Amino acid sequence: MITQLGVIKDEQYGAISTPIYHSATFRHPGVGQSTGFDYSRTSNPTRKELEAAVAKIENGNYGFAFPTGMAALTAIFGLFKKGDHIILSEDLYGGTYRLLRQYFSTFEIESDFVDTSDISQLEQCWQTHTKALLIETPSNPLMKITDIKKCVEICKQNDALCIVDNTFLTPYYQNPLDFQVDIVIHSGTKYLAGHNDLLAGVVIVNDQDLATRIGFIQNTTGSVLSPGDSWLLLRSLKTLGLRIERQQSNAKRIVEWAESEGSQWIDTVYYPGARESQNYHIHTQQSSGDGAMISLRLKTSELAIELLSHIQIFSFAESLGGVESLITLPARQTHADIPEEYRLRLGITDDLLRLSIGIEDAEDLINDLHQSLTKCK
Ligand SMILES: *Cc1c(COP(=O)(O)O)cnc(C)c1O
Repeated sequence: MITQLGVIKDEQYGAISTPIYHSATFRHPGVGQSTGFDYSRTSNPTRKELEAAVAKIENGNYGFAFPTGMAALTAIFGLFKKGDHIILSEDLYGGTYRLLRQYFSTFEIESDFVDTSDISQLEQCWQTHTKALLIETPSNPLMKITDIKKCVEICKQNDALCIVDNTFLTPYYQNPLDFQVDIVIHSGTKYLAGHNDLLAGVVIVNDQDLATRIGFIQNTTGSVLSPGDSWLLLRSLKTLGLRIERQQSNAKRIVEWAESEGSQWIDTVYYPGARESQNYHIHTQQSSGDGAMISLRLKTSELAIELLSHIQIFSFAESLGGVESLITLPARQTHADIPEEYRLRLGITDDLLRLSIGIEDAEDLINDLHQSLTKCK
């Protein structure tokens, strides 16, 4: 892991931290001359440091910072045109489903959602006009693992782009570009920012031509992260490794509890590090950690819903990846835009809770779950 991110060589004052360049425009030294910065939509010094930092930690050549994860995804889907077909993991962030089904569909960009953890399903769904595959691995919220190498192979054979939404494991535990994936995206709002206080999205690529096309979309549509938020995200990246190591060790303790004492209330624990989980061997080949997202299927929906009214340290809130632990009910929140029938088929029902583990004391978190469940009728 790179420890020095956003540390600049400031000749004038010797500042360690990258300054926030709150300037919309930049003075030209003369006609036809530029300092390298003309107008902040096109490029801004603080954003540029951040973009270089995210590229570095994802082992990529080019980084782009957007105002949200959805803005990053919108820019990526902007690479496609009418009649193109995109395949996506079926168990993924509900907003990505809505973006394709309710927005890009109006531009006649077609999409299909399949269980990409089963490569044969992916192959069956492939069409002659399929131009991209987008996967989330582990998936959201059921933590299914998709084989990144196999996906890249299929995309290369068919001249399609392979895209990974790497929000859950972060570049600290998974670097899809190392497997020749074309595009990595993150909701920077989550682990990269890590403090539940800022929205951001990032995209990282290796290919120069692709970078030019994405840079064009970013500048043309004006979808850029502000200098202030770029600085905050850059600052957050400096502690990504520390935070996620602690979050992961807390998560592992909670999984242990959920599988032992907690099993009187909990039916199934979904965690990438659970050995019995399908594709566990693939997960260990492509990731160096299990992360800190856990889904729990409670014995009844009533139990899951009532627990939310008793928790004290966890907060009942959507989002994930921050230092504060959160619990969501995906069926009603993050995945509410997925049609009910489809959600039921996937198993995203009212008995399923998704936990994002923070950096609090692990015992306090376990006690909080325990005391809440004890209070449930
Ligand atoms: C939150 C999230 C997004 C959307 O990001 P925003 O920053 O909320 O716009 C996309 N993908 C995943 C996996 C997410 O968790």
